[in-house]
Amino acid sequence: MSAAVLFEQGLVVDGSGGPSWPGDVLLIDDRIAALGEGLRTRLPDGIALEDLEVVDCRGKVIAPGFIDAHTHDDAIVLRDPLCLPKLSQGITTVVTGNCGISLAPYSTPQSRPPLTLLGADTFRHATMASYRAAVDAAQPALNVAALVGHTTLRFAAMQSLDRPADAVEAARMAALLDECMTAGAHGLSSGLFYEEAFQAPADEVTALARVVARHGGVYATHLRSEMATIIEAMHEAGDTAFHAGVPLVISHHKCAGPANWGRTRETLPLVEALAQRQSIAMDVYPYVAGSTVLREDLVDGVIDVLLTWSDPHPGMTGRLLSDIAAEWGVDQKEACRRLQPGGACYFQMLEEDVERVIAHPLTMIGSDGLPHDRHPHPRLWGAFPRVLARYWRERRLFTLEQAVHKMTGMTARNLRIADRGLLRVGAMADVVVFDPETVRDTATYDAPHGVSEGIVQVFVNGRCAYRGGEARVLARAGRMLTRAAAG
Ligand SMILES: [Zn+2]
Repeated sequence: MSAAVLFEQGLVVDGSGGPSWPGDVLLIDDRIAALGEGLRTRLPDGIALEDLEVVDCRGKVIAPGFIDAHTHDDAIVLRDPLCLPKLSQGITTVVTGNCGISLAPYSTPQSRPPLTLLGADTFRHATMASYRAAVDAAQPALNVAALVGHTTLRFAAMQSLDRPADAVEAARMAALLDECMTAGAHGLSSGLFYEEAFQAPADEVTALARVVARHGGVYATHLRSEMATIIEAMHEAGDTAFHAGVPLVISHHKCAGPANWGRTRETLPLVEALAQRQSIAMDVYPYVAGSTVLREDLVDGVIDVLLTWSDPHPGMTGRLLSDIAAEWGVDQKEACRRLQPGGACYFQMLEEDVERVIAHPLTMIGSDGLPHDRHPHPRLWGAFPRVLARYWRERRLFTLEQAVHKMTGMTARNLRIADRGLLRVGAMADVVVFDPETVRDTATYDAPHGVSEGIVQVFVNGRCAYRGGEARVLARAGRMLTRAAAG
């Protein structure tokens, strides 16, 4: 007999961005079977009311499960497959492998920055097929869509990373990437900002993006610069994707550093100009602080820097770099050096820029959460509810339908995720029910592990994986996804 769930009398926000409507959603097994009003009076043959699990959705929104467009969850879905920080936000699919850093295809006994964004000592998958098998075996609570990192390819194919790849190395990277795409990866990511990829010229990346184009994937990039030379970096990304013939995603779009505050007035018109010739989108997290590994060049003595982890000084975690430096009687750059390897939140953005990017019609939501950090940026636990609470309910930057679209249908389309992100008959049964009046993030910079409020129930592939108020994971029904056909 089939497992059936009826979500009754909610506000159906279907993920398309189109108007919401009051009604019901019926799941049978792992698919959406029907949408409409009064579904209990006209159930499909073979389904009886007494066999149904009924979820009372009065006063609640029924939406597709949220898709986190930008994560570094490659290793955590294996190590901690419950994925509570994500599931408790209503997220049912994570896109891994961003910023040039993916777990596959690379096998090594040690890890070093920026690979530490994925946690140490976790690189054991020389192929995407191996990683895929590992995810299937781990049975995570949510679905995984993998990108392949350019920096990871460099680690796998090159002995030294302080130069462009030579012809043999480039061919090796292309072959590794081809295997990953054949195994269902969704595309290529790069992190040209990071030292390990910075010496890669645009041509090196374009050649790899062509491999992705042959398979119908996408190219996502952490730009070479998000500071003074961001416009040049955006042109480089646009040209790379255009010449390769792939859709472009600009990762965590921001104008970083006080000298660049306000420059989304330049960058967003450039995105719109590029959109005239090519497919382009952005992702964003809803905070004014970024977070990555501890780097001297990001410490300017002006912005606040909050330590998220430090191998040599774990006791300093959660403190401001300025306070640590004062305590040690050194300047902040010296304190930064002593704390490495480590990670930090950098308060490097202007709220007006964040709002402009979030509100833009080409922007989707990605948490960029760092699940291995001891004192993580609050985006790990709170990004999606924060968009709903702060930027929809309080600031009214967009409609509820647009907010949900940025978390679901838009993301599925941009990242080649099939049959998810929309409430449609026949689509996969990933569903979140939330309270539009109370949904909100509780994670803060001081207390970053807060479970969000107002997320009522989360279903993954037709199974109830999370119920608000319980703060635990009820089912591990996630799957490793395979790239949708381009279209
Ligand atoms: Zn990044």
